[in-house]
Amino acid sequence: MKGRTARQPHFKTHMGDIMDYLMLVDKLSAVPDGFEKTITLEEVGGKLLESQACRQCRLLLKDAERDGIKIKVLSAYRSCDYQQLLWEKSISQRMGRGMSYSDAVNDTSRTLAKSGHSEHNCGLAVDFATPSAVDTEDDFYTTPQGRWLCRNAHKYGFILRYPRMKEHYTGYDYEPWHYRYVGSEAAEFIKKSGLCLEEFLHFYSENFI
Ligand SMILES: [Zn+2]
Repeated sequence: MKGRTARQPHFKTHMGDIMDYLMLVDKLSAVPDGFEKTITLEEVGGKLLESQACRQCRLLLKDAERDGIKIKVLSAYRSCDYQQLLWEKSISQRMGRGMSYSDAVNDTSRTLAKSGHSEHNCGLAVDFATPSAVDTEDDFYTTPQGRWLCRNAHKYGFILRYPRMKEHYTGYDYEPWHYRYVGSEAAEFIKKSGLCLEEFLHFYSENFI
């Protein structure tokens, strides 16, 4: 209770001392060593996701469909090894187009994380898409799927992780397709406050139980 005032909300960071749903994974913070061995994955939409996030994601997809919106799970959990492959592939593609190595690294890092630094490596992130999409869609926010998620994802514990105007905090360009599971209580608060996860953790982490 120390340091918390009556008006400040607080959020549990650990569920059963196993999974930290408010874990910060970004360009500076990697998933903890050995994390991949501890995570329990379940399948949703043909992809794998951490079990609790997965159950909530299934509910989200079902409710969206009930509203007449079919949403595709384009990408979810990725192993650190697979993330490394994606990273190397992106850099070599850019170098193949004539970029220097450092320019290729800088350009890649605007939208792709290094191995261990992607939220997809912790099994709590989902890239959503329209049913026929084969890649992420820049205009996803204009689609019925993107708009439905904007209005409803927080009810299932998911937040739009890389919003517009927060690039200087998150380190990533706006990604209308990338949602992160943080639990319903935190997601509700983040949605209403307009904070991004980095700001939320900065302001409220000392209030965590
Ligand atoms: Zn993503």
